[in-house]
Amino acid sequence: MIPPGETIGILGGGQLGRMIAMAAAQLGYRCHIYAPEPDSIAAEVCGGFTNAAWDDREALARFASDCAVITYEFENVPVAPVATLAPVPVLPHWRALEVAQDRLSEKCFVVELGGTPAPFAPVDSDADLAAAIQRIGAPGILKTRREGYDGKGQWRIASLHEADRLPLPTTPLVYEGFVTFFAEFSVILCRGADGDIRYWDSAENVHEGGILARSSVPAPAAVQGQVPDARALAAKVAEALDYVGVLTLEFFATEQGPVFNEMAPRVHNSGHWTIEGALTSQFENHVRAICGLPLGDTALAAKGVEMRNLIGDEAHDWAKILSDPANHLHLYGKAAARPGRKMGHVTRLVLE
Ligand code: AMP
Repeated sequence: MIPPGETIGILGGGQLGRMIAMAAAQLGYRCHIYAPEPDSIAAEVCGGFTNAAWDDREALARFASDCAVITYEFENVPVAPVATLAPVPVLPHWRALEVAQDRLSEKCFVVELGGTPAPFAPVDSDADLAAAIQRIGAPGILKTRREGYDGKGQWRIASLHEADRLPLPTTPLVYEGFVTFFAEFSVILCRGADGDIRYWDSAENVHEGGILARSSVPAPAAVQGQVPDARALAAKVAEALDYVGVLTLEFFATEQGPVFNEMAPRVHNSGHWTIEGALTSQFENHVRAICGLPLGDTALAAKGVEMRNLIGDEAHDWAKILSDPANHLHLYGKAAARPGRKMGHVTRLVLE
């Protein structure tokens, strides 16, 4: 067990790190951010900040020597340097990073555990893409295997003809059949070092332009009916990775049951509602898990909860948002409100 007072290292310096650090501070921990960008919004709320490249071995070693445990808030942290941080424990284990960093490997991993993703095929050339569309059909979505997020690195393809005209990027890709879903939802769980698993209620998630716009709980009954199967798969993933911390799996709810979309080995935007809406937030339970503390209750703290992301200029409405006393406003402290950038979120509890 890592007692309060110790230092938690966090790889990555964005809003997820900031919210983990705020939860850690409540429990009496100090956090140290490691991030390659100098303007880290997580570092602003932490006691320590190492601003260095992911492959700077000396900086990594110095950072590790200040930490009792290390976690990550960003799944694209390169695996090789993370593996050098031992003997300081890195939780969740870097194997989870390795699986989740690559859309092809995460789909294969989930298939082996009995999960159902959209039909998919790896694409490394024009010929591969044509063959994938022949086999899977169109419409579909071509995605970069690595580093895509919030709808970036994705191309919708309506037909084989359209694919012919697409200049393929040189990075490895995966083609997926387009899923006809009636809703999207996520399973967020926390697994303790002792194997104890807690789930939060599954939120229905609405995306706009590939970016999460809103999450609400409780999800409609038709979605809730798919949660047990989705949870069973998430638990298998967590157990197969001997996972410690918060893990997220995103699903499409379809007439045929839950279709796996992707996983994130970390706290997740669709769980931000848990800060006010659950008895213990995803951030606090992540800290508890990686420090070996008992997990807190994940039950709903209200009848329902709604979380809305503030994207780009929407964050400028903070005064109007605060004029409604029922709104819980979270701003991440980012300087520039670029279009498509997650600047903050607003949570509302449904009390009756
Ligand atoms: P992703 O980055 O893979 O989570 O994709 C972002 C969003 O694009 C998803 O949340 C869906 O709304 C949509 N999307 C991604 N893949 C598919 C698919 N195979 N079929 C239908 N919609 C998809």
